[in-house]
Amino acid sequence: MPEFDILFRNARLIDGEGGPSVFGDLAVTDDRIAAIGDLSGASGAHEIDAEGLALAPGFIDCHCHDDYAILETPLLEPKISQGVTTVINGNCGVSAAPVLPDRPDPLPPLTLFVQGERRTFKDFASYFSALEKSPAAVNSACLCGHSNLRHAVMSHMDRPATAGEIGQMQALLTDALNAGVLGLSTGLYYPAAREAPTEEVISISQTLSKFNALYVTHMRDEADGVAASLKETFEIGAKAGVPVIVSHHKCVGCANHGKSEMTLKLIDEARKTQSVGLDVYPYVASSTVLLPERVAISERVLITWSEAMPEASGRFLSDIAREMGCSDEVAAKRLLPGGAVYFQLNEEDVRRILSYPDTMIGSDGIVQDVHPHPRAWGTFPRVLGHYARDVGLFPLEQAVRKMTSLTARNFGLANRGILQEGFFADLVLFDPVTIIDTASFEEPCQASMGIERVFVNGQCTWVDGSPTGARPGMAIRRV
Ligand SMILES: [Zn+2]
Repeated sequence: MPEFDILFRNARLIDGEGGPSVFGDLAVTDDRIAAIGDLSGASGAHEIDAEGLALAPGFIDCHCHDDYAILETPLLEPKISQGVTTVINGNCGVSAAPVLPDRPDPLPPLTLFVQGERRTFKDFASYFSALEKSPAAVNSACLCGHSNLRHAVMSHMDRPATAGEIGQMQALLTDALNAGVLGLSTGLYYPAAREAPTEEVISISQTLSKFNALYVTHMRDEADGVAASLKETFEIGAKAGVPVIVSHHKCVGCANHGKSEMTLKLIDEARKTQSVGLDVYPYVASSTVLLPERVAISERVLITWSEAMPEASGRFLSDIAREMGCSDEVAAKRLLPGGAVYFQLNEEDVRRILSYPDTMIGSDGIVQDVHPHPRAWGTFPRVLGHYARDVGLFPLEQAVRKMTSLTARNFGLANRGILQEGFFADLVLFDPVTIIDTASFEEPCQASMGIERVFVNGQCTWVDGSPTGARPGMAIRRV
């Protein structure tokens, strides 16, 4: 009778904490890591020869918009093919819940989820129970979107909330926290939340502190006002008494290229007195809903989807504008509603932010876009293969830490993110020599190379370049 369910032999073990790799064996029983070390005398019901391969904790994608994707396409191939075992949803102020019936038409980016058949979840209890009834191939945790709260209680979102409305939002957030969300996310950049003053966000965020929960933000301005937005974020965290996470940190627009040197100093300074985290995706282009005002500060714009002109997906806006005989901005207006990739970042900034020791990796991918940003399929192998191995920005072990233990600690995911006995067996077995992203801006929906096998809670979800069909993902609630 074998002692273990699965036994990996002779792996390069990367524990997720950032220290040097060690060579050894790792055993799994049920959904947990059962033993690590020299297990040459032991046996497993299923033995895997991991000679030449690295075994790491499964990657945690800390910035996702997979709230509905995990229900509608539960194998979530774009993510599991990268070695992702846990996704954190509900970012940028938008989540699948709460969405109350009979509310006015939503402003962007609520349109991502609050549309048609998707107006389903009035609260997080019903969202989590749907996830448990129909599990995904990945674990998932969730933030509650500030824009959802505004949409639920305000007749018009293009103004600050009244004291009464803030009280109602606090009650809805309390309900979400009781159901198990990790915290609150805002998207102060977007029309749905743009008119929310700092005080509104502080008042709502004060609800978080009793729950030991987080404030996560797509800041008001990542372009000319990036420094002021960081200060606003720190003020919200300090006055609400909660840790903050700056989402997809970047400096947008040519005029702001190089500013990451200054922004990272501001973050360092703030971290002396409060908890500040940040994440990044490894590309020089951003992506979100199509916003005509964003066109002018971009070098190029690639359309990811358009309701008015579906055939525009995958084409550059300037080509479409030329055919229409109008400016890029006018063409963008004609394509609404839609989504786009904006080339507006600087490689040096991307590298500097990636290299900051406590930067986490988050894809921010929108996997259900017709022609998505390649980050939806390539983020994690790109950091490991391109930036760590080929460019040499940091050792492989540090790259893994940025997508495992660091994220689990910042978001309070218990017993995940480290190779440790008793922890959940979320594991990725990859080839450190060949791992690389293959998704490109032209061909974005392509699985990466070098991911050999992926395990979630002890069950294999990805092997030989394909999903196994297993859906062992858990809905992770705040503890
Ligand atoms: Zn965002």
